[in-house]
Amino acid sequence: MSAMSAALRTALMLAEAGVPPLPLRQGKVPFGNCRNCADGACGGRPNMKNPSPCTCPAPCHGWAAATTDPTVLTSPAWASAWREAVAVAYHPGGADLTVVDLDNAAAIAWARETLPATQTVGTTRGEHWIYRGTMRSANAVREGVDIKSTMAYAR
Ligand SMILES: [Zn+2]
Ligand SMILES: [Zn+2]
Repeated sequence: MSAMSAALRTALMLAEAGVPPLPLRQGKVPFGNCRNCADGACGGRPNMKNPSPCTCPAPCHGWAAATTDPTVLTSPAWASAWREAVAVAYHPGGADLTVVDLDNAAAIAWARETLPATQTVGTTRGEHWIYRGTMRSANAVREGVDIKSTMAYAR
C-alpha cells in the first residue's frame, strides 16, 4: 500500500472534526466532473439546487462532493484526486459554519469595526473569520469580502 498523501491526511482530520473536505487541483479549484457528470448530464448531486439521483463515486460537482465519510474519502474513485491535490478545501455550510473571507487589509479593518469578534484564521492574503451557523453564500458583498457557507467551498 502506498503512503497516504498529505492532502488526504489533512482531509481525514477535517472529516473527523465534522468538517466536509474536498481536494483542490492546480489553480486551487475543484477537480472537473468525470465524463458521466460532464455538461450537466447527471443533473448534479441531491444536495445541489436541482435535486437529482447523481451517485457518482468520484469527487464531482465541487462543494457538493465534500463529505465527512472516510469510506468515500479513501475510496479508489477519489485516490487520484488526492494524489494530484495541491490543497484541501472544505464546505463550511456542511459543518454548520459561515466563513467571512477577508482578502486584504482594508477588508480586515472593516471587519474589526463591524463584525462581532470570533475565531480567525490567517490566509495567504488576508483572514477568515469563522462563525457558527449557516447562511447563503455571497461573493463580493463589499470590496475584498466574500461570505462562504452553504453551497460554497473555502480553503
Ligand atoms: Zn462524476
Ligand atoms: Zn454527477
